[in-house]
Amino acid sequence: MSSNTDTPPTTANFVRAIIEQDLAEGKNDGKVITRFPPEPNGYLHIGHAKSACLNFGLAQDYNGRCHLRFDDTNPEKEEVEYIESIQEDIRWLGFDWGEHLYFASDYFEQLYDYAEHLIQDGLAYVDSLSAEEIREYRGTLTEPGIPSPYRDRTPEENLDLFRRMRAGEFADGSHVLRAKIDMSHPNINMRDPVLYRIRRVTHHRTGDTWCIYPMYDFTHGLSDAMEGITHSICTLEFEAHRPLYDWILEKLPVPCHPQQIEFARLNLSYTVMSKRKLRMLVEEGVVAGWDDPRMPTLAGMRRRGVTPAAIRDFCDRVGVAKSNSLVDLAMLEHSIRDDLNQNAPRRLAVLDPLKIVITNYPVEEVEYVEAANHPQDPSFGTRQLPFSRELYIERRDFMEDPPRKFHRLAPGREVRLRFGYFITCQDVVKDEAGRVVELHCTYDPETRGGSAPDGRKVKGTIHWVSAAHAVEAEVRVYDRLFQDELPSGEIWDSLNPESLQTLYNCKMEPSLAEASLDEHFQFERNGYFCLDPDSNSQHLILNRTVSLRDSWAKQAKKG
Ligand code: ATP
Ligand code: MG
Repeated sequence: MSSNTDTPPTTANFVRAIIEQDLAEGKNDGKVITRFPPEPNGYLHIGHAKSACLNFGLAQDYNGRCHLRFDDTNPEKEEVEYIESIQEDIRWLGFDWGEHLYFASDYFEQLYDYAEHLIQDGLAYVDSLSAEEIREYRGTLTEPGIPSPYRDRTPEENLDLFRRMRAGEFADGSHVLRAKIDMSHPNINMRDPVLYRIRRVTHHRTGDTWCIYPMYDFTHGLSDAMEGITHSICTLEFEAHRPLYDWILEKLPVPCHPQQIEFARLNLSYTVMSKRKLRMLVEEGVVAGWDDPRMPTLAGMRRRGVTPAAIRDFCDRVGVAKSNSLVDLAMLEHSIRDDLNQNAPRRLAVLDPLKIVITNYPVEEVEYVEAANHPQDPSFGTRQLPFSRELYIERRDFMEDPPRKFHRLAPGREVRLRFGYFITCQDVVKDEAGRVVELHCTYDPETRGGSAPDGRKVKGTIHWVSAAHAVEAEVRVYDRLFQDELPSGEIWDSLNPESLQTLYNCKMEPSLAEASLDEHFQFERNGYFCLDPDSNSQHLILNRTVSLRDSWAKQAKKG
């Protein structure tokens, strides 16, 4: 397994094998030009990241280039917000398209000319069947289709109708332009697929210039060809569209004929990746927005504290395969932890505070103890932590009546305070309801720095924060959004009711007051955290990116 560095070692895969063979054979003048073609109808998610890493990664590794092309042929679904977020997310992932930013809608005029070309060659016709009739005539997997009664219109008639379609003479849905291929082709995509439909919808870029819009299959291959793409990499569901991709490029005088290569899309357990479903979660208010830290979107993951390096590492580990599979969410979390473990400085923070008073420590005295910022990497340096008579510790680090294996604080027991002293619990203070509200402890002044001169050992080390110096924070602890491994059908039924737990009154070491949005921290023994963009100096908010260990794997083992 690869370790995480700035440039993860790239794993061999079948797409690389194809490209290397093409290069060896001198195909495409030795060029590698790929593209990433999002439809601007939602935010990018981790599945898109896989495609982007592949396309931009190949361009980087083979000295080529990767275009960012918005596939904006579906006017009613597209929004400017998405176009902006997609660019931001790709840049954040670490990729750059340079000047090669394109919109399929910029090609509408050329695409229209290509359509006329097909008509003139007798390879496309205007069909006047309704959408439903077209479906009925198409046949099934076992039965051939039936030719439309309009299939034999002459090129002149078709050209005239198509021009009038463009001119807006016909109602939406009254005619379409179809390729004239083969109504009994075993591949249904080849049974005279629709190339253009009439649709009076304002397009976010072309406005009301057009009332006919080209279909994806017609647009995509031609856009690839016009841009000089060499390898058009897409997901497996387009495998059955490849004959059409090739047919269109063969029949038209295009500058080049890119090779379509299909790979398996990323499927992640406990995650939905359909943009339609993600949009539903946003619109129904199940999550706070596209960038809710529980969303599998890049914006959500960024807000949660996931780094681009972790995502790139994950995509690399997942690899590129020819058949579909389900990747365990734990694998993504592994990449996130691996990266943060190396790169996140350590801090002390108490999420569920219990106050302790060190009764033999002088009142009002404050001393500073030195704390390492990273236990394995001295280059992170150290910081000074204030230590005083009143501290907070984690409530779970104390048990009044502990089982034998509990090595933390209990009446009469001695533990080490991280970077501090040994303390012993002497008294337990409770409120009227019997709840523990405070511990009275004593410390051994001889144990500064964490060891006793007499060589006695303690079994537990716990973290703490000086009460007088602590900064208060709200901490949002996220868990997977779905509790089903394969959320399907009504996704509402699969939601994890505990995907967000908000902790108020958390106590942070004082340095957190100066934290900035691009920083990541490990709170010792508590996980990895980052500041939320809604945080401010009056109200500190931190998001937990991920726990230190895979708690779900532990649960599964317990059974
Ligand atoms: P949806 O069907 O949810 O709208 P999409 O696949 O149509 O998603 P696009 O915007 O068309 O989304 O995707 C842009 C690119 O990302 C395409 O090349 C697509 O194949 C790829 N892609 C989308 N989802 C995944 C995934 N889960 N794994 C790998 N690549 C993906
Ligand atoms: Mg798509």
